[in-house]
Amino acid sequence: MLKNKKALITGASRGIGRAIALDMASNGADIAIVYASNVGAAEETCRCLTEKGVNAFAFQCDVRDDAKVKETVKQAVLALGGLDILVNNSGIVKDGLIPLMKEDHFTSVIDTNLSGAYRMIRHCCMYLMKQGKGRIINISSVVGIMGNAGQSNYAASKAGLIGLTKSVAKELGARGITCNAIAPGFIRTDMTDALEEDTRRALLANLPLGRMGEPEDVAHLASFLASDMASYISGGVYTVDGGMCV
Ligand code: NAP
Repeated sequence: MLKNKKALITGASRGIGRAIALDMASNGADIAIVYASNVGAAEETCRCLTEKGVNAFAFQCDVRDDAKVKETVKQAVLALGGLDILVNNSGIVKDGLIPLMKEDHFTSVIDTNLSGAYRMIRHCCMYLMKQGKGRIINISSVVGIMGNAGQSNYAASKAGLIGLTKSVAKELGARGITCNAIAPGFIRTDMTDALEEDTRRALLANLPLGRMGEPEDVAHLASFLASDMASYISGGVYTVDGGMCV
């Protein structure tokens, strides 16, 4: 489905990003992963990717640093020999009730989750536009659609990603580039492992499918949206949430 495609995936040392990298590699894509600081996890992901018979590269890059993003995109395109797919998946949470939320907890979440995606798109789209085709996939969240008490910073970043997705889809569509967002629900990763048991139980009680999602549930949709089968799909927001958002 993705044979000979070249994909750059942020936040792919762990969790959902890692699952997307593995799924795209299983479908034949060469992969460049970006991570923040977890060298061991990034190397392990790269090892699993190369076992699938594709080329894989890992780049340490904080998506909050524009100069580093620009350089990383350049190096990744060089290593891969081109670029077809960008997945903006890097993300953090810094939860807190709004009266108590410190300004740097608000701005650092926006800077990573939303501005990080903007930086990646800005530097990657030059390459995608030159070849007249490409796929951009932004990992948003159901929280960006529904909101969530205690996550105003995270919700704002994920809602912002949806606006970014729709605008980029309109702007770059004429250049053969699609841009879509995936909004996962409650997915089993390090991010959700950190939740209190009570919160976890309450979330599960309201889930029509009655279980947490697996990172692979998100990854299959990302591979589909990156494939030629999705060439007429752009500007959309697709939930992978076990029915949470209906
Ligand atoms: P995770 O397990 O916590 O992994 C986060 C990834 O982002 C790691 O690879 C981390 O790198 C990277 N990262 C963090 N800050 C970064 C920065 N400043 N620059 C570059 N990379 C950075 O998260 P996850 O649960 O897989 O979530 C992945 C995405 O899905 C996030 O955008 C999240 O908001 C979204 N999402 C998750 C859920 C869920 O239930 N898990 C639901 C909805 C949406 P290191 O390994 O180096 O730290």
